[in-house]
Amino acid sequence: MPGTVELPRRRVRTERAPLGVVDYTLAKRALLRGVAGGLFSRFEVCDAHPELIRAAKHVGEPAHRPCPICKDDDLRLLAYVYGDTLKRDNGRVWKLETGLRLTATHRGASCYVVEVCTACSWNHLSEAFTARSAG
Ligand SMILES: [Zn+2]
Repeated sequence: MPGTVELPRRRVRTERAPLGVVDYTLAKRALLRGVAGGLFSRFEVCDAHPELIRAAKHVGEPAHRPCPICKDDDLRLLAYVYGDTLKRDNGRVWKLETGLRLTATHRGASCYVVEVCTACSWNHLSEAFTARSAG
């Protein structure tokens, strides 16, 4: 699989934000192997909710790698941030940079980076970042 998910991690390192990272590349590869082997249909994995597609178009940032399913270049990354101290912003979608900054400054917050293809509706969790301490 040519795609990697290095971009957000590199950004976090650059900012020296105190974030723990979980990479979902292996889970994604397993799913893509399942598609290639006929275990899952394209319809089963390209099932992004219309709201997710809309968010990807308006808030998503280019992933700089092609969609693993349709090879389109419109693969985008979004950040969903959850945390008790976020109050009204809990569970909202953000641009990557903002989502990571928000996570780094809220104790116990988590940022889930999702990749979404606006061409075929492929979507998968890319990485999760967790605040280690409050900023
Ligand atoms: Zn696609």
